[in-house]
Amino acid sequence: MLKKCKICNLPETYETIEFDSMGICNICRQKEFKDGEIDWLHRKSQLDDLIEQYRGKFSYDCIVPFSGGKDSTFTLQYLIKEYKLKPLVVQFNHGFMRKGLIENNQRTFRKLGVDVISFTPNWKLIKRLMLESLVRKGDFCWHCHTGIYSYPMHVALQNQVPLIFWGEPSSEYTAYYDYRDDKIEEVDEDKFNRSTNLGITAEDMAGMISKDFDFDPRDLAPFMYPPLRNLKKLGYRSVCLGSYIPWDVKKQVSIIQQELGWKGDEVEGMPWNEYPYEKIECHLQGVRDYIKYLKRGYGRVTQMTALDLRNQRITHQKAQELIDEYEGKKPHSLTIFLEYLGITESEFNSIIEKTVVPPNIPNFNAEYSAKTSDFADWYRESGGDQGIQRKLIPIKPV
Ligand SMILES: [Zn+2]
Repeated sequence: MLKKCKICNLPETYETIEFDSMGICNICRQKEFKDGEIDWLHRKSQLDDLIEQYRGKFSYDCIVPFSGGKDSTFTLQYLIKEYKLKPLVVQFNHGFMRKGLIENNQRTFRKLGVDVISFTPNWKLIKRLMLESLVRKGDFCWHCHTGIYSYPMHVALQNQVPLIFWGEPSSEYTAYYDYRDDKIEEVDEDKFNRSTNLGITAEDMAGMISKDFDFDPRDLAPFMYPPLRNLKKLGYRSVCLGSYIPWDVKKQVSIIQQELGWKGDEVEGMPWNEYPYEKIECHLQGVRDYIKYLKRGYGRVTQMTALDLRNQRITHQKAQELIDEYEGKKPHSLTIFLEYLGITESEFNSIIEKTVVPPNIPNFNAEYSAKTSDFADWYRESGGDQGIQRKLIPIKPV
């Protein structure tokens, strides 16, 4: 049995978790601080000052990196409605955007009247990066973590727009940053190297894949954080809106539903009635959550109910029922994922086995979760496209 927080039920295998003598976790303690002791009026006036410092002086007032999920959609809506800013929306397309998400995005962009830059990196390279990151870290999303955080910084430099607004602060869900420090979290190169890139730089990655994979070194540029001196010269600030206003996911979801007609979606392994708004951006989310369950013994249902338990919006009994019913099931997207990478399920299992966090013991024989209604639309690879195109290794003359 994993040890769990008395309030939110997060287990000891959760990243950055620590328990105090009462069995309460550090993330719950941060939440008490966020509610009780942060002077949110003061934070809001800091936001006013920050915005006035940059407003009207550049080709855009700010950049909003945008996935189309609930947090970036709310951030964009808030900056436009509350401050009448002219933002440049920057979207890094990880390659797995769902139909519902694309419709949400189009509606949001049109209703708000914004300029948008969207970037999609090389698919063949993405597949190779996913495999390398899966094998090394048991997390196939390196290209997505790094691309989402570095690409908008390149756009900031290219367009000379120094202010960048992210949404949710990481103090909401990890202890890498702490509300109690009473400092504004900077989404910068430090953070990128400490947690975002899983400890693998783009240069490292290039070295790792070069033995068997043909690519142009420039292909990795979008995943590389731009030089700090260039960002400093620009006078950049890269911050989370949630450092300045109290982040309340449920409330914000209802605002974007009303104002923008934003729609939630079914996500594999999630209770769709209770959590229709969480992580709808990617059709491989189910695989990601499944891997987390195998490694750490908890998944997204535990994470979502933890937030609600902390906010006293759900009972412990109801949370446990949802966890028991939904968590740890095998997603149908796993089949698609294995086709992309050209590996079998047992190869997948033995890769994950190596990254399991003790004392968790994984169960690889779970039943399948329900198929989402857009499953048939998810990109499938057939025949010769499946798997990764390896470099032909020249045979050395004898
Ligand atoms: Zn807790």
